[in-house]
Amino acid sequence: MATFSDGIADTRLPGAGVIETDVLIVGSGPSGASAALALSTLGIANMMITKYRWTANTPRAHITNQRAMEFFRDMGIEEQVKADSTPHDQIGDTVFCTSIAGEELGRILSWGTGPSRHADYVLASPTLNCDVPQNYLEPILVRNATGRGTQTRFSSEYLSHTQDADGVTVQVLDRVTGQTLTIRAKYLIGTDGARSKVAADLDLPMEGAMDIAGSMNITFTADIQQLVGHRPSVLYWVVQPGSNVGGIGAGLVRMVRPWNEWLIVWGYDITGPEPVIDTAAATQIVRNLLGMPDLEVEITGTSLWGNNEMFATHLQKGRVFCAGDAIHRHPPSNGLGSNTSIQDSYNLAWKLAAVLRGQAGPGLLETYSAERAPVARQIVTRANKSGREFVQLFEALGILGAQTEAEMIEQIEERKADTPAGRRKRDAIVAAMEIKNYEFNAHGVELGQFYTSSAVVSDGSPRATPTRDPELFYQASTVPGSPLPHAWIGDARDKYSTLDLAPSTQFTVFTGIAGQPWADAAPAVAERLGIDLKAVVIGPGRRYTDLYFDWQRLREIDEDGVLLVRPDKIIAWRSLAAVDDPENALIAALSSILSRTA
Ligand SMILES: Cc1cc2nc3c(=O)[nH]c(=O)nc-3n(C[C@H](O)[C@H](O)[C@H](O)COP(=O)(O)OP(=O)(O)OC[C@H]3O[C@@H](n4cnc5c(N)ncnc54)[C@H](O)[C@@H]3O)c2cc1C
Repeated sequence: MATFSDGIADTRLPGAGVIETDVLIVGSGPSGASAALALSTLGIANMMITKYRWTANTPRAHITNQRAMEFFRDMGIEEQVKADSTPHDQIGDTVFCTSIAGEELGRILSWGTGPSRHADYVLASPTLNCDVPQNYLEPILVRNATGRGTQTRFSSEYLSHTQDADGVTVQVLDRVTGQTLTIRAKYLIGTDGARSKVAADLDLPMEGAMDIAGSMNITFTADIQQLVGHRPSVLYWVVQPGSNVGGIGAGLVRMVRPWNEWLIVWGYDITGPEPVIDTAAATQIVRNLLGMPDLEVEITGTSLWGNNEMFATHLQKGRVFCAGDAIHRHPPSNGLGSNTSIQDSYNLAWKLAAVLRGQAGPGLLETYSAERAPVARQIVTRANKSGREFVQLFEALGILGAQTEAEMIEQIEERKADTPAGRRKRDAIVAAMEIKNYEFNAHGVELGQFYTSSAVVSDGSPRATPTRDPELFYQASTVPGSPLPHAWIGDARDKYSTLDLAPSTQFTVFTGIAGQPWADAAPAVAERLGIDLKAVVIGPGRRYTDLYFDWQRLREIDEDGVLLVRPDKIIAWRSLAAVDDPENALIAALSSILSRTA
């Protein structure tokens, strides 16, 4: 049998050639499908292969934060996602209880739905978070990517790759025919999840550990609207005997579709044998957590998964990159996994496009690791910390040392007593619930990523000192490396977010009326660099006025200064005021950002 240059057997059917593409994406999860969608939107030839015959078959990720929604808005699919989502106002009454039908221990208004936090969320973004189960989201992403040009191949398993100076040669198993295919791409992105073979083949440096705790998912249908419709939420945490085993620390009843499709997450001891969850066992867990011993339940699926605490400290080698769970592996706490995976791909796609079009030097691609590896570390740390912070609630309730169910109930009951112990317990519960804001209202973690790399040119200003807790509160800024702040601008008829005017297909400069010379320089800069650069002048009598005067408060530059915004809506550079030669100032900044030699 013939072999390829790297020694792999050529098992192609007679007449079959090597398949070629610019970017090959392994995996069609949130990360891979977002990379495909962004690349196709940018007109870059790409192919997405995925091991199974269709997209995710379980709900998995669901909390979809504002940064992910902004990506969907940029891609023109926000309304499609919203149509399949449970909206913002229905997702936040997170309940802690002894069972769904039983007593409540307390509630925490989550995801910015509480009056004290709602304004923060509304002010930060043109779009609000919502709940979209992963098995609803993935088809939207894949459909739109494929419609825009992605060549999507299901039942195609990545086996191995080699790379050389010009590209990457990838061996792929066609799981329908059993044949091995060869795909030659200029770049390869491994978005093949937490057990990523691409990341393993690259031998990416990883920190942390896998499978530190065990969880099981049980999906079921049961209409329980009468128990939850008045306290609508996607998460109901149930403190019951046995539930403090495993990663999440309490039994979780999660809404998939209001109010008759549900998913239970229940811990198991990962150091012991794998539990067998047959229909009878699953039904018993459902009935226990719901506190409804006679409930008619249809169990629709069960699965086991490991909780991880691992992240890559470098995300790429040569022409191969990894994104998503391949580089950050952590429990679902804070709902960061899919959201961060989407942002990884948003960061990478425009850079690949710029290099493939000859607009940027290969050095731009190195900034992917520089910018996203710190995010991977941050979110893995946060999600695991949030998981562990359930212990404070267990401590407050006094159930950590409880040996029997009766002891546990006695401890939980003590919070009602008119005794010094009861009083202490009530105070401790309030303090423990307060800590959970770091999981359920961590707006700063969700939105506040800041990049330092050669794709950001400093103007010499330091990053602003946070005025509030940076994990809980997002602080908009225009210091280069920050996400472009959102403000509503427009005219008597139309209203746009500043984010809407900086789409992923271009660089954008924002200035004021006195900064017109920056806008005048933009076409010449675009022509000289061969890039798409648009100017937005905000002010009275111009196409866009500062409708609520928010932009003036947020921009942190003088009216004659400028913000240069990257295709992924990150401030790449700014000038606080006018300069003598705006054209050359912009050329210098963009040349540096794009890693172009003089
Ligand atoms: C119960 C639960 C709840 C969660 N809740 C949230 C939440 O609320 N919000 C949130 O943001 N995240 C949440 N997550 C995390 C989220 O599911 C993951 O972070 C997300 O799926 C990662 O996306 P990905 O594209 O990187 O990887 P995956 O979704 O794991 O996709 C990997 C893809 O690679 C493919 N693949 C794997 N190996 C190969 C191969 N060899 N060849 C070809 N294809 C391959 C697979 O078929 C799949 O398409 C939750 C997870 C769980 C388990």
